[in-house]
Amino acid sequence: MALLESENRRLRRDEKMFRLLCETSNSAFIYYNYREDRIRTIANWDYFFDFSIENIKDFSRLYDKVEEKYAILLREGLFIENHNRDRESFEIQLKEKNLCVEVEVNIVYDADRKPTDKIIRFKDVTKINAQKDELTYMAYYDILTGLYNRNCFVRILGELLRKATREMRTVAVMFVDFDDFRRVNDGMGIIAGDEVIQLFGQYLSGLMSEQVVISHFSTDIYCIAIYDPCGARSVETIYQVIRERLKTPFRLTDGQEVTMTVSVGVSEYPEAASGTLELINCAEIVMFKAKSKGKDAIQYFDGAILEDFLQTVNIQTMLREVVFEQNFTMNYQPQYYAEDKRLRGVEALIRWKDDEGDSISPAVFIPIAEKNGTIVPIGNWVIEKSVQTYAHWRDTYHYPMLLSLNVSAVQCKQKDFIESLLQIIQKYDVSPEEIELEITETILIEDFGYISGRLARLRETGVKISLDDFGTGFSSLSYLKGLPIDTLKIDKSFVDTMLTDNNTKIIIESIIYMVKRLGYETIAEGVETEEQFAYLKDLSCDIIQGYYLGRPMPDEGIEELLEGLTAKV
Ligand code: C2E
Ligand code: CA
Ligand code: CA
Repeated sequence: MALLESENRRLRRDEKMFRLLCETSNSAFIYYNYREDRIRTIANWDYFFDFSIENIKDFSRLYDKVEEKYAILLREGLFIENHNRDRESFEIQLKEKNLCVEVEVNIVYDADRKPTDKIIRFKDVTKINAQKDELTYMAYYDILTGLYNRNCFVRILGELLRKATREMRTVAVMFVDFDDFRRVNDGMGIIAGDEVIQLFGQYLSGLMSEQVVISHFSTDIYCIAIYDPCGARSVETIYQVIRERLKTPFRLTDGQEVTMTVSVGVSEYPEAASGTLELINCAEIVMFKAKSKGKDAIQYFDGAILEDFLQTVNIQTMLREVVFEQNFTMNYQPQYYAEDKRLRGVEALIRWKDDEGDSISPAVFIPIAEKNGTIVPIGNWVIEKSVQTYAHWRDTYHYPMLLSLNVSAVQCKQKDFIESLLQIIQKYDVSPEEIELEITETILIEDFGYISGRLARLRETGVKISLDDFGTGFSSLSYLKGLPIDTLKIDKSFVDTMLTDNNTKIIIESIIYMVKRLGYETIAEGVETEEQFAYLKDLSCDIIQGYYLGRPMPDEGIEELLEGLTAKV
């Protein structure tokens, strides 16, 4: 008796446990016992269905509840014992409740393979499926714009290239990059930035077709692939359509308006490259060219641009590995007073020989070093090396002259630039009056107030300032007035053509006239012939530098020169 009592208690406990399990499982069950021919619905039945099932016939009521295309699947699936199967699971969609339901059917057979019990489980998988969809979506689309993402774009582009090979067509890639996007992101906040990206993305998605695939590549970059570009889907047409749109500002939700422009690089398969990533890279590289041309422009692929780029990358790598004392040397080019050809001083010019002994022109590597910041240590090395050499000459030959040093904008903007320059000068016992810094207009333009303040401070110490390459930049004579400079260096390009081109002649004459009136000295550089020299002297240009009077030369060359001069004294 006690045994039966305890057995009953165990059964009640078990039953409670099973009921709890069912009820908390988010599922509903149909249990059917073949021998008793009895059907029970268990757990969350009401969640799925608003009718009950009492016998096998009622199963047909289930078919009405599912989307039509699932009806047969469900009917077959519920009676797998007809096919002597044990287990089956499939998904159906409930019509009214709009639920995605996983149905699992289990049959229990006896030793003679006769079905004894059937358990059907209905499980709500709507949420899981939505999450799965979202993950798939995220793998292919960009959330912000709804356009294809980078990965997906690369995949589709690969398919387009294969198709183009088969059909002997071309595929163009347009690399579209917002100009000055930082202005929006930093100035108006990233929410505004995101909105601009989104609005433009929405606009671009309207241009999509089977042949035109558009992706949001990264932050402010969109990539467009055009299969067989021609007619309405030619690169030029699409570019013009985009530019037309950009003429109207983007209106943000907070009412602000933003006008944007884009720079576009274009590469075409198979001309530019044969692989997807190379093709995109080529488009990106030429896009940078469009930017450097002044933005709001389109640039088509061109082998020379690629060459240039590869050279830049190559030089960047070499710059990282360069050993200053081993690879760099200094050359010095003499400057003379036009009046009596007396030596005025020397301009220090850096020379780079790589480990193979090939020289790389400073005109090529200095701009790259300026971009990647290596100009700062290089510039410091140049200053130290030249000042040291200069001090040695002065102590040996006692010839009074100037040392001209080229300084880049990046270098000049360094916080400790003035202090470290003065320190080096002091270290070699050179006085500031013996030093001249050659700066370019770009230094001034970038940050006029700050830089001219610095230059003024330098001039107070006695250092001279010379404005290099005059005429190649903004070169407005009117802004010269009041600049903290002593000397103005007329660019070689004027000297080159002044005797053959009348316009240049007029310009150079008026420059020299104006500059003298403003109280600055003038230097002409790149003077190669006697005629040029005579003409400039005639115009009362003060100083002459160029191959005609002396090429840039290593230390020994200048030493020979100074020896000759001091022997004469
Ligand atoms: P730059 O400052 O305008 O230097 C004058 C350039 O013209 C030098 O080229 C010089 O060798 C060349 N040159 C001088 N006279 C003649 C001539 O009569 N005919 C011809 N055809 N060329 C002449 P280089 O040495 O190749 O330097 C190129 C540029 O690289 C320089 O132009 C300067 O902007 C930069 N650079 C050179 N050394 C340094 C340096 O130490 N620091 C910085 N920041 N820039 C440097
Ligand atoms: Ca110079
Ligand atoms: Ca120059």
